[in-house]
Amino acid sequence: MDKLIRATAADNTVRIMAAITTETVAEAVRRHQTSPTVSAAFGRVLTGTLLLGAGLKDFDRLTVKIECEGPVGGIVAETNLSGTVRGYVRNPLAELPPKENGKFDVSGIIGDGMFHVIREVGFDVGSYQTPYHGSVPLYTSEIAEDFAYYLLKSEQIPSAVLLGVLLENVAPFVRAAGGIILQMMPGANEHIITMIEDTIRHAPHLTSVINEGATPKDLIELALGIIDYEILEEKTVEFACSCSMERTIEMVRSLGKSEVEAMLSEDKGATITCGFCNEVYRLDEEQLQEIADSF
Ligand code: ZN
Repeated sequence: MDKLIRATAADNTVRIMAAITTETVAEAVRRHQTSPTVSAAFGRVLTGTLLLGAGLKDFDRLTVKIECEGPVGGIVAETNLSGTVRGYVRNPLAELPPKENGKFDVSGIIGDGMFHVIREVGFDVGSYQTPYHGSVPLYTSEIAEDFAYYLLKSEQIPSAVLLGVLLENVAPFVRAAGGIILQMMPGANEHIITMIEDTIRHAPHLTSVINEGATPKDLIELALGIIDYEILEEKTVEFACSCSMERTIEMVRSLGKSEVEAMLSEDKGATITCGFCNEVYRLDEEQLQEIADSF
């Protein structure tokens, strides 16, 4: 199971979230059948969203939405406090040749666009409040820098963000994935910031250490070097969706009696695919009739 750790250092002036997301990203790639470059981009967004969510408490649902002009067309990821994430991409099969250095052309597949964060509160307890919505233009479209730019510009939190996805040619295609977000809170000591920046600059590649079996704790140590830290929370993270047959029936019912009757007479059934996880729900004639009779 993938794990995420939230920790603090330097008298609470530095916050750290670190996660291994190899299985989470592999499941997302399996469900959405994404091309290699889209898998790299999608995996970074899913990991960044989990880490961003772990650093916050005031939401039920946090959505990161990338609206972009590149071939992928857009990426959405959504997380909650329990540590699950789900998401989708507009064009899963978009692809570009690798960059000259051999890396996936994530910035090319995304292109220019906007980075949105939406935090919703009260959804599950029936007291829905106006969602918080922060947006910034995409900065480099390599994803990690875009999360950092968002945190700085929209939330005024100077941050270092590292996100990595290592792919391979055989299923499940994702060999290693994970990330770290370090946030400098008010009062953070300049000396500590310089030490962390220096440690990160000289650290080995994130995906190579994850591939060698690193834990979230190892990632924290990789970023903090000799600085002491305290673990505040450790949890399991996974790709999971809230869709179900029950919710699908509710959704079909919400279309109205005449629409349900049309489905019955024209198709003798209905097939509904969840956009977030690609799960397919099939309603047969009998189930549709039951919905039609319930009006
Ligand atoms: Zn679903």
